[in-house]
Amino acid sequence: MESEKVLLPLKPRGLLQSENLYQYILETNVYPREPEPLRELREVTASHPRATMAISPDAGQLIALILKLLNPKKTLEVGVFTGYSLLLTALSIPEDGNITAIDINRSAYEIGLPVIRKAGVEHKIDFIESPALPVLDRLSKEIGNEGSFDFAFVDADKPNHWNYHERVMKLLKVGGVVVYDNTLWGGSVAMSEEDTEEGKKEGRQIIIEFNKLLAADPRVQISQAPVGDGITICRRIF
Ligand code: SAM
Ligand code: CA
Repeated sequence: MESEKVLLPLKPRGLLQSENLYQYILETNVYPREPEPLRELREVTASHPRATMAISPDAGQLIALILKLLNPKKTLEVGVFTGYSLLLTALSIPEDGNITAIDINRSAYEIGLPVIRKAGVEHKIDFIESPALPVLDRLSKEIGNEGSFDFAFVDADKPNHWNYHERVMKLLKVGGVVVYDNTLWGGSVAMSEEDTEEGKKEGRQIIIEFNKLLAADPRVQISQAPVGDGITICRRIF
């Protein structure tokens, strides 16, 4: 029955029509090709009470591919948690690449840090413990930063998604790419308010509004990819 389907939790079936199909993708294409440090980070994150905050490995695999195509040197991450997306970025960018990684709370990052160190990529990361908005504002005021970033990944507090977008548009170079996570919000964006489970209602409204604004933003070329919880890939056009 349709109502049963929509009430199933997002994990572990992603947004696909069946859990089996999602498992098929993970087991056939994702897990066998997942770099060992990322598998380890996923394992150390699994016991965290908020483990589902980490991006899904299938979304991570697509982001890693985009990073390899872009070969970005100057990158930004907003919302680190234990560092799955951060580590995959660090593993994918060149040896002299850099990630300015911002999170309001360092404690989860500390859990992933030993794996990041073991992978030999810590030197690429500048971790800043702070609310992200003031850091992004400070970065755009610093000489040489405006229009200079090649890539950004945004996965923090969703009410600020659009505020982050406005700042990232200043920091990103023309041709640079920003990826936003959770842009399908467990599929709830296409459900009625009443069919949406209580805990998802507020986020649903925020993401619906964000998606509308993004779709109407002439500064970016966009693609909504239904991997993980939905990611939107944006390339700055001007
Ligand atoms: N990208 C991460 C990964 O792959 O594991 C998951 C990030 S998690 C969904 C969201 C993170 O955003 C949390 O670690 C939280 O501390 C952080 N956060 C929440 N509000 C924030 C804010 N105002 N500024 C910066 N970080 C914030
Ligand atoms: Ca997320």
